[in-house]
Amino acid sequence: MRIMNGAALAKKIRSVLAIEIDFCKSKYGRAPKLSVILVGNDPASMTYVKNKGKSCNEVGIESDMHYLPFSTSQEELLSLIKTLNEDDSVDGILVQLPLPKHIDKNVILNAIDYHKDVDGLHPMNVGLLNTSEECIIPCTPKGILSLLKSENVEIAGKHTVVIGRSNLVGKPMAQLMLRENASVTVCHSKTRDLPYLTRQGEILIVAIGCPNLINADMIKPGAIVVDVGINSVDGKMVGDVYNSIDVSSIEKKAAAITPVPGGVGPMTIASLLENTFEIYKRRIHSAKC
Ligand code: NAD
Repeated sequence: MRIMNGAALAKKIRSVLAIEIDFCKSKYGRAPKLSVILVGNDPASMTYVKNKGKSCNEVGIESDMHYLPFSTSQEELLSLIKTLNEDDSVDGILVQLPLPKHIDKNVILNAIDYHKDVDGLHPMNVGLLNTSEECIIPCTPKGILSLLKSENVEIAGKHTVVIGRSNLVGKPMAQLMLRENASVTVCHSKTRDLPYLTRQGEILIVAIGCPNLINADMIKPGAIVVDVGINSVDGKMVGDVYNSIDVSSIEKKAAAITPVPGGVGPMTIASLLENTFEIYKRRIHSAKC
C-alpha cells in the first residue's frame, strides 16, 4: 500500500508560494494579508489559529490576528467583519470555527465579503462551486484534490464514496469530485448498510471524526483511501482509518492511503495559503486595492 505524503507535497507548495509571493510583493508593493478571527480560548482552536498565522508568515503572507473574548457579542463580531470587509489592505478573512453558541455561525459566515472568504464557506462560493464556476474552494477538499492529482490518481469516471456531509468537508468534497467527472456517493450517519456502499468506492474519502468505524471488509480491493479524520486516542492523534485497529488488514486491501498526521492536515493549510494568494492576485488585478 502506498502512502500519499501530504506533508511533502504541502512543503513543495509552500516553497513555490514563498517565491511567488516575494516576487509579487516587490512588484505590487505589498504582501497578501489574511485576517484571522478567534472568539474564545478553546485550546484546539488556539493551536489551529497559531499554526495558520505561523504558516502565513513562513511564506510571506501577513497575518492579522484578532483574539476576541468568549463574551464577544454577535453584533461586535459583525462590526469587526464589516471593518475587515472594507479594509483594502485585507485580502482574506477567516473566522475560526466553532463559534460560541450565542453567535449564529451562518450569520457570521454570510457577513464576510465572499471575495475575501478564504474558507469558501459563504453561500455565494458554495453556489459557484456547485455550478462549476470560478470560486474559492474550501481548503480541505481543495488540498485533497491537489494531493490526488499529484499522486496521478485518475478521477474521471471513478466511483468516489465520500463519508461525511458537513459543509466544511463532505459536501464540497462531493461537489469537487463531481466537477472532476467522478461518480459520487455521499454517506452519512443515517446511511443504511454503510459497508455495502463503501465497498463500491474506488476512491474512498472518510471524513467522520470517529476512529475504528472503517475496517478492511468495508474497503474495495485496490481502493484509494483518503483519511480526513482527526481524533485523539490516548493522547495520540489518529485518523478515522489510518491507524485504526484494523490497519494491517486495510494495508493489504487498499492501493494507497493518506496518513494521519502528515496527509490531509498539511494540505489543508497549504490550500489556505494558496486561497489567500489567489484572492490577493485577483484583487490586485481588478485594482480593488
Ligand atoms: P462533522 O462532525 O461536521 O461531520 C461528520 C460527518 O460524519 C457528518 O456528516 C455525519 O453524518 C458523518 N457521520 C457521523 N457518524 C457516522 C457514521 N457512524 N456513519 C457514517 N457517517 C457518519 O465533521 P467535519 O467537520 O466534516 O470533520 C470530519 C473529521 O475530519 C473530523 O475528525 C475533523 O476533525 C476532521 N477534519 C480534518 C481536517 C484536516 O485538515 N485534516 C479538516 C477538517 C476536518
